[in-house]
Amino acid sequence: MNNFNFDILIVGGGHAGCEAAYAASEFDLNVGLVSMPGIPLASAPCNPAVGGVGKGQVVRELDALGGLMPRLTDYAGIQFRILNESKGPAVRSTRVQIDKDKYAEKAFEILSNRKGLTLVDATVVKITKSANGYTVNSKEGKVITSKTLILTAGTFLNGKLHTGPLQVEGGRVDCDKSAGLDELISSKSKIKRFKTGTPPRLLGKTINFSKMEPQPSDNRAICFHFANKPELRQQKQLDCYLTRTNSNTLTSIRKNKERSPIFNGQIEGVGPRYCPSIEDKAFRYPDKDSHHVFVEPEGLDIDTFYPNGISTSLPVEVQEEFLRTIPGLEEAKIAIPGYAVEYDVVDTVDLKISLEHKEIAGLFTAGQLNGTSGYEEAAGQGFIAGINAVYLLKELEPFKLDRNHSYIGVMVEDLVTSERDEPYRLFTARSESRLYNREDNTYFRLAPYRKSLNLTNDIDNFLEKYLDQRETLVELVKTSGFRATPAWKQYFQEMEYGKIQENITLEELIKRSHLDPEVTLDKELIRMGLRFIPQVISDVANSVKYEGYLERAQNQQEKLSKLTTRKIDWRNLSENSNISFECRQRIVKVQPEDFSQLSRINGIRPATLAYVASNSL
Ligand SMILES: Cc1cc2nc3c(=O)[nH]c(=O)nc-3n(C[C@H](O)[C@H](O)[C@H](O)COP(=O)(O)OP(=O)(O)OC[C@H]3O[C@@H](n4cnc5c(N)ncnc54)[C@H](O)[C@@H]3O)c2cc1C
Repeated sequence: MNNFNFDILIVGGGHAGCEAAYAASEFDLNVGLVSMPGIPLASAPCNPAVGGVGKGQVVRELDALGGLMPRLTDYAGIQFRILNESKGPAVRSTRVQIDKDKYAEKAFEILSNRKGLTLVDATVVKITKSANGYTVNSKEGKVITSKTLILTAGTFLNGKLHTGPLQVEGGRVDCDKSAGLDELISSKSKIKRFKTGTPPRLLGKTINFSKMEPQPSDNRAICFHFANKPELRQQKQLDCYLTRTNSNTLTSIRKNKERSPIFNGQIEGVGPRYCPSIEDKAFRYPDKDSHHVFVEPEGLDIDTFYPNGISTSLPVEVQEEFLRTIPGLEEAKIAIPGYAVEYDVVDTVDLKISLEHKEIAGLFTAGQLNGTSGYEEAAGQGFIAGINAVYLLKELEPFKLDRNHSYIGVMVEDLVTSERDEPYRLFTARSESRLYNREDNTYFRLAPYRKSLNLTNDIDNFLEKYLDQRETLVELVKTSGFRATPAWKQYFQEMEYGKIQENITLEELIKRSHLDPEVTLDKELIRMGLRFIPQVISDVANSVKYEGYLERAQNQQEKLSKLTTRKIDWRNLSENSNISFECRQRIVKVQPEDFSQLSRINGIRPATLAYVASNSL
């Protein structure tokens, strides 16, 4: 078939595109997903892992919203870990190593069986806008029309790969670049150039794992999808391994500085500050001679390993030389050399909060193309774009997640209000409400948003049960007396916690500062013979334990909210001569709707904020 007609067409089957397709096809619309032939859907060109600090939160939010990524991750998970376990629930996150082939196979299986969704194998070479929507032409001669379009071309747009002096056009190794898609956007928006990089893939049989520290899967780490159980992992679990660079590694890199495309001027794109290459680290931290290298399996039947921490675009012979200095990698053979990729990104201040372009009606963009970095960030935006394409067609107000309730909300607001001068990735410090935006209370935080979609699915039934149980458990914790059993007394003695009190409530027990709230509540519920959904127990335990902090934070937030949610008329501001010309230009570009958005615009001066805050404008 060569001609197709859709309500919503998604271009690009990466993490953003697959999530957008999954979300949009939950409604009664005709949805298409076109992606380059030969490149698996939802493939992982970089680290074969999902989640991590700030990102695990996004994956759980997607689960609460009914998304795809949590299901794929659980299915393909070969090592589950809890990061920052000792640092407290605000920064605790789940990270899952995935079998990248199984992940992509499952994505294909789910999406190809999705009612209302058609998968089209084709390389898009041209997009034209007409009165009724969009016409898309492919290299293979296919013509697709659609009322709305979601563009998620990842690192492919005018992509160029670099390994030492070698430069090849492409979106990632052994893949074509994408061209022609930017003509429509570049007529209305500035296009920027970003870069990212990846380490060499190493042949497993040439690695000496006995010189490294094994890191086994943690069976306490709960799955991302609510219905999956840690005791029933779907794949065999594997170890990852930890080794380190040393002064010899860094000397080898430092002496080859001039041969590095990021230092000799060959690469112009800006790279992610928070995922530096090994050459970046060698020069940024001259006094440090050791950096972690996590050697991670790429899959159960894949004999290549991903050495996380040594992303590089140095010439292959330099990569071979510095690998020989790392314990366990002395004999390692490179299967695919490390490389950097430069690609075009759109300026996200030209997007609305729905991720629709401000001047090109019906066109949405999401993922790496929006200047973000990471699978989870891409999937989070894909969900928002997918739902908002549906809402546009149904003439509903945009679907928006409040930044005080969600990391996806934080990311989308950051993207549309401030210009990007480097790739954007999520981490917990980006959220003003990180003690509230925890992984453990995600279903509670996101339930109202899912409900607002007016759908009925397995997640909706689960959320109803979750909220009921949560209410019951909060009540129980506040009213139940605690009985100091001999086992508790012995535990207190062993831990040297002092004398255990007899007449306190469960709530008071949980709040005792030296007790882990989740373990304590779990133990007591077992003793009482009561069963609750595990996520409800963690949510209630932490919510009760940190109640005081949360209340204080909420009070501050409410005070701030009175100011930040105050609506402003950007058109008035843009004509106000008390505001500098430069600030007015930025205001016209971003078109902020409230004070919060105004305050996030790069380059808005404190004097402007003070002036707007103290005048009703
Ligand atoms: C070399 C490399 C290194 C990376 N390093 C990191 C890192 O260190 N940290 C990190 O967080 N992330 C890294 N990433 C980024 C990570 O891969 C992305 O964040 C993530 O894949 C983005 O998802 P996406 O859906 O936006 O795009 P992608 O996963 O890139 O998917 C884009 C999809 O669009 C399709 N497509 C493109 N053009 C067309 C067209 N014209 N017609 C049809 N289909 C098209 C492609 O086939 C592909 O399926 C790296 C990526 C690469 C390639």
